[in-house]
Amino acid sequence: MHDLIIIGGGPAGIAAGVYAARKRLKAVLITEEIGGQSTVSDGIENWIGTTKISGTDLAKSFADHLDAVRDDVITLVAGERITSLEKSKDGFLARTKTGKEFSARAALIASGASRRKLDIPGAERFEHKGVTYCASCDGPLFADQDVAVVGGGNAGFETALQLLAYAKSVTLFHRHKEFKADPVTIEKACAHQNMHVVRHAEPLEVKGDQFVTGLTYKDKDSGETKSLAVSGIFVEAGVIPNTEFASGLVELDAVGRIKTDPRNQRTNTEGVWAAGDCTDELYHQNNIAAGDGVKALEDIYLWVKKR
Ligand SMILES: Cc1cc2nc3c(=O)[nH]c(=O)nc-3n(C[C@H](O)[C@H](O)[C@H](O)COP(=O)(O)OP(=O)(O)OC[C@H]3O[C@@H](n4cnc5c(N)ncnc54)[C@H](O)[C@@H]3O)c2cc1C
Repeated sequence: MHDLIIIGGGPAGIAAGVYAARKRLKAVLITEEIGGQSTVSDGIENWIGTTKISGTDLAKSFADHLDAVRDDVITLVAGERITSLEKSKDGFLARTKTGKEFSARAALIASGASRRKLDIPGAERFEHKGVTYCASCDGPLFADQDVAVVGGGNAGFETALQLLAYAKSVTLFHRHKEFKADPVTIEKACAHQNMHVVRHAEPLEVKGDQFVTGLTYKDKDSGETKSLAVSGIFVEAGVIPNTEFASGLVELDAVGRIKTDPRNQRTNTEGVWAAGDCTDELYHQNNIAAGDGVKALEDIYLWVKKR
């Protein structure tokens, strides 16, 4: 029996793990991978204390930091996916996809979020045949080709910036009239001659034969259906919280995020905390997720010690 189960190895989970180690809380940190969502980013420029760091280096620094402090108080279980988290006689029981079980008096859910899939005809059929969710992984395959990015948030513009280095042209589609991305990122991307933006447009269908050949979309200003010839479509259409395994244990909001008290990250279930992008926190950033993890851990420590 551990004091605490931490689920997730992104900034929220790792920050909590480092603090748990320093406070000598006996914890098990279970995660599919270490690093979290921005691992795929080429350059993160707002992780406080670093001017610029690649997602891979950020993930490595998380792993190194945890390894340096964890001693024998934190058990790291990487490469495992939690499929259920429920109440047990003495606390909480987490089960993994491979059938492993872990028990603890308290639980911290820091399981973040995953990419939302493009839900239009052709998107599933052409996944890995031109439709992709990872610019760092697949971008170079589209050198000197015309590509589209779906999504006008930070992730969309960051993806466009990566692709602009080698694609012939990048056309970014956004559903709304106003972009959600940071102005500095928008300016950087739009300064490239081969960058185009289509605002207020609804993707309708991915076209192709063996591979993607184009994207049709509705111009929401004119109501017309238009099409663009592209060989790659990079989807950055937002995220969905990874909270299914806890849906029977804690209260979720309408889109599946865990409702938390922002003062201490407590959920509505005594003994369960949540931190980072899996919560109903308004803003989703690495620094915020790490801060949430720390805040939760401070509260968990006091809670565990009182018992
Ligand atoms: C492309 C991209 C670029 C970004 N760039 C920036 C940036 O420049 N600056 C910035 O501040 N933010 C950036 N963000 C946002 C930032 O990455 C997130 O806000 C942050 O990662 C949230 O951290 P988290 O720990 O809450 O969750 P996540 O990073 O999502 O980590 C969740 C962790 O939980 C694990 N996990 C999930 N489900 C399970 C399960 N069932 N069982 C076990 N483990 C599980 C995952 O493997 C992962 O380790 C970017 C996001 C993306 C997608």
